[in-house]
Amino acid sequence: MASCILQIALDTPLDSVFDYRWSCEPGAEPLVGQLALVNFGRREAVGVIVAVKRDSDVPADKLKDALAVRGQLPPLSGKWLALARFAADYYHRPLGEVAMPGLPKNLRLASTVALDRALKKLARLPDAHDPAPVDMPVLNAAQQQAADAIGGALGFSPMLLYGVTGSGKTEVYLQACAQVLARDADAQILVLVPEINLTPQLEANIRARFPGVMLATLHSSLSEGERMLHWLAAHQGRARIVLGTRLAILSSLPHLKLIVIDEEHDPSYKQQEGLRYSARDLAVWRAHQLGIPIVLGSATPSLESWHHAQTGRYRRLELRERAVRDAVLPRVKLVDMERDKPKEGLTSALLNALRTRLERGEQSLLFLNRRGYAPVICCDACGWISNCTRCTAFMVLHRPERRLRCHHCSLEMRIPHACPTCGNIDLQPLGRGTQRVEEGLQALFPQARILRIDADSTRLKGSAQAAFDAVHRGDVDILVGTQMVAKGHDFKKLTLVGVLNPDTALFSQDYRASERLFAQLMQVAGRAGRAGLESEVLVQSRYCQHPLYGALMRHDYERFAGDLLEERHQAALPPYMYQALLRAEAPELAGAIAFLEAARDVLPSEAVVINDPIPMTMTRVHNVDRAQLLVESNSRPALQAFLGAWVDALRAMKTRVRWSLEVDPLDI
Ligand code: ADP
Ligand code: ZN
Ligand code: ZN
Repeated sequence: MASCILQIALDTPLDSVFDYRWSCEPGAEPLVGQLALVNFGRREAVGVIVAVKRDSDVPADKLKDALAVRGQLPPLSGKWLALARFAADYYHRPLGEVAMPGLPKNLRLASTVALDRALKKLARLPDAHDPAPVDMPVLNAAQQQAADAIGGALGFSPMLLYGVTGSGKTEVYLQACAQVLARDADAQILVLVPEINLTPQLEANIRARFPGVMLATLHSSLSEGERMLHWLAAHQGRARIVLGTRLAILSSLPHLKLIVIDEEHDPSYKQQEGLRYSARDLAVWRAHQLGIPIVLGSATPSLESWHHAQTGRYRRLELRERAVRDAVLPRVKLVDMERDKPKEGLTSALLNALRTRLERGEQSLLFLNRRGYAPVICCDACGWISNCTRCTAFMVLHRPERRLRCHHCSLEMRIPHACPTCGNIDLQPLGRGTQRVEEGLQALFPQARILRIDADSTRLKGSAQAAFDAVHRGDVDILVGTQMVAKGHDFKKLTLVGVLNPDTALFSQDYRASERLFAQLMQVAGRAGRAGLESEVLVQSRYCQHPLYGALMRHDYERFAGDLLEERHQAALPPYMYQALLRAEAPELAGAIAFLEAARDVLPSEAVVINDPIPMTMTRVHNVDRAQLLVESNSRPALQAFLGAWVDALRAMKTRVRWSLEVDPLDI
């Protein structure tokens, strides 16, 4: 029998494309984009065929045979492969490492049992589902204009939907989707959200609104079986709407006609390990590649997107008012903690406001972005503090669980009965986390129904949903929570938001900290008064004069963004500068720094600025020291060209230090 050569991308570090032989009659060769099972090293692995050739440079006696081709699955499209290749090139990772992890695990198994079962199940699944009652509000003029602009856009048209919190952006997306689906009987739409667990309403809304079409969700809390089914539904073009988190950007969507990115500023669109990609940036590339519209929505757009809107690269669509009749943005007031000394972390102004809400039967939300009881415990007698033995970090006191926990390496221990150095039994918690605020509230308002929502209280599957349901039902008077409660939710009876300890981010070394803080505060403030009840936001601060708070009081994102962009321009920071970060990890800091110094000098370049290595702010995590080196250029192509050559040079250094490169880093 004749044979051909399959070039297959496998999920391996470094070189990830390998030649295999495949016996087949001429004219019956496998197709590019099909999956194949091969022997790789001592394991079997599934990869994607990226080329079918006649000859290989590998000597015939070294060439292995591919074991199987997954003929039951339609091939991944050339466009999809081009997307994977772009991501691999742009982030300087091997192709197979980008292409393969994006596919469901069950598709990468040696056995096809799961695949065949999923295909059968999908074939039996109806496209339509039972219609649920929908209430479909009549769009206001601004919403209608935005929906028509999105729904009617043709070709590559990036749009920024800039709408204040509660302005009804969701409704705009839904109606734009309806237009696209109605116009094109095959059209698929990809809707990305930061965290699906926090927006179950959206899924329900889409389902109710489009009973005739199949909806597939793609996110990390699906079971492998579900994930496979949903991925296949998208890949076959059957799922007309795909709702997912960042990982869904790499899903296969043969008839993709519109991309929607909700809360586009959200940092969770950035993957922070392995392939450190930005789903938002890849989405814009994908829309460009396909020549389709993409809409990025936010009340506080990322400065990158805002900049694009200002310079005309993105079309700006605006919703200046809240959608619900009589709902206005809440009044934001600052409470000076120097004058109004807090008790249990709460100033008298905030206590009074809470009391008023309790009397009126309205809900309050206290936002504190720090979980646990206290960030650290200490001994007044000798000065001992609860440092983590493995990290440059404190062990956080978790009082209900009676434990100290490091939030970085997850080291845990019982709370010591006495100081480990001097034996003093009077150890004091320092500072305040959500658990401590909850405890303080229970003492101050024993009759109130208080609920805490944070990563600790919602560890069990379904518990976050149950907690949010309780708030929606009105079974909660005071909600205490971290950023988990700041996003997306539409709590109708919530009329007071208290912000407890925002100041620390004002003085962070990270130049993005203020952008992020502002977005977060605007988001959390946006939870109040969404149903037309008069509402207020109280921000407790020691720096009431800070311009960030001034902008927050005026709900003035535009001015704030303008000022920040000006600062970034002056300081030559993104979006006026393109950056990449080389990180190194070693048992001792000196080893990491020495590697980075060598890396700095290995490829001299005029086109980019290569900075000196520095230890990371949190230097040690889980017994390894970390350092980083920043490379910058005001030209993206120049930076990319340098990085390509640099990565080759770094690989050739064959160091034992673990290193990774991040393009467009968010945390510096
Ligand atoms: P955003 O995402 O912009 O913060 P939402 O999409 O959550 O806002 O909408 C806020 C609230 O306004 C929701 O309760 C929604 O049902 C309601 N809403 C949206 N559009 C309209 C409209 N045209 N008329 C009345 N209510 C609307
Ligand atoms: Zn002590
Ligand atoms: Zn630790």
